[in-house]
Amino acid sequence: MRLLLMGPPGAGKGTQATTIAARFGVPAISTGDIFRANVAQRTELGVLADAYMSAGDYVPDEVTNAMVADRLAEADCADGFLLDGYPRTPQQVAELDAMLERCGVELDSVVLLEADSEELVRRLLLRAQEQGRADDTEPVIRRRLEVYAAETEPLAAAYLDRGVLVSVDGLGSIEEVAERIMAVLAPEPVVVE
Ligand code: AMP
Repeated sequence: MRLLLMGPPGAGKGTQATTIAARFGVPAISTGDIFRANVAQRTELGVLADAYMSAGDYVPDEVTNAMVADRLAEADCADGFLLDGYPRTPQQVAELDAMLERCGVELDSVVLLEADSEELVRRLLLRAQEQGRADDTEPVIRRRLEVYAAETEPLAAAYLDRGVLVSVDGLGSIEEVAERIMAVLAPEPVVVE
């Protein structure tokens, strides 16, 4: 299974990515998590990424694309993966296409998790209290939602045209949303009497 998980900040991508990847036995790769690990370890990549992340902006495409290419080249991705939070720009879509083409593989599905913006802000402010994430302050949350709407939301149309996009309502408990995703990815076989 080669999957992408898309959706606005606060839609629950990270939580769902872990569950869905485990069910399919593929690694969940979150570009946000890789950046945060680099920020915490103060690597060169982390220092660079931090400036963008704390403003709610995207890390430049060349940096992000190179990081994903390295990660997808690791052995555990050979039979599948779930990318959470990548691609987010048209250049990233093109670069991912090129990476997959070089390996002679294709995406199976792109899951778009949807939720309304009031709910997203509410969830992100709650996460700010619980986890203390540096980019979960209200002005940065608003900026991240704006950047998503301008740069990433339009990408769904391209995947819809390719016939690989499935939209899932992200409202509800973690279990309910996970079941909805599983139902669209691995529907029960239709039994013909
Ligand atoms: P996330 O954990 O997915 O919400 O990502 C947190 C932050 O990491 C984002 O607001 C961006 O600054 C950065 N980031 C994560 N993924 C990407 C990406 N695909 N392209 C550019 N920046 C990214």
